[in-house]
Amino acid sequence: MAKIDWSSKGQETPSVIERAHHLYQRHGPALTSHPRIPGLLAQYQKDIDLTARRTVSLGVPAFCIACAKRDCVCCFKGVEQRYDEYLLLTNLMLGDRGAWAAQAGATCFYCGAAGCTLAAKHSFCLNFYCADIKRGLGVAGMDVLMRQVGQELSSQWELERVLMPWLWAEAEREG
Ligand code: SF4
Ligand code: SF4
Repeated sequence: MAKIDWSSKGQETPSVIERAHHLYQRHGPALTSHPRIPGLLAQYQKDIDLTARRTVSLGVPAFCIACAKRDCVCCFKGVEQRYDEYLLLTNLMLGDRGAWAAQAGATCFYCGAAGCTLAAKHSFCLNFYCADIKRGLGVAGMDVLMRQVGQELSSQWELERVLMPWLWAEAEREG
């Protein structure tokens, strides 16, 4: 069974990050040799990369760079609370060193100087495209983009529904 939602609402982000690092230190080696998780992670990474490539080929970064120049990117304070230790653990499993606190920006905690510092993103972030982008890409372009975003989220879910029961079983075993 997968998680219903990712959230760390009401919790301090640094302690959420600390828990993610703790999970990674505790379970990283076993997760690396799990029979299914490395393959699911590889597929997820492939889809993250494909979304990034589609985003570039459709010209999305130009819109966001223009916003950044005007200091009005849409990532806002509070979105970091959508990220719990399990989604951060997924980022660590994808090879992130997890130095998010050092890069934290004034808006969303994970918004660094060069944009979002996370590879594994919450559906809230992945599904948002502003009216300018929607107008610029048109129906056909948005359709291509959203189909790929859907594929990325589907890979995230496939990973999550193996990872989460494994973590829950481990937690029960450890008492
Ligand atoms: S998604 Fe739209 S509002 Fe947000 S940074 Fe990009 S262009 Fe700006
Ligand atoms: S895309 Fe990244 S920086 Fe922007 S709101 Fe989402 S987590 Fe924060």
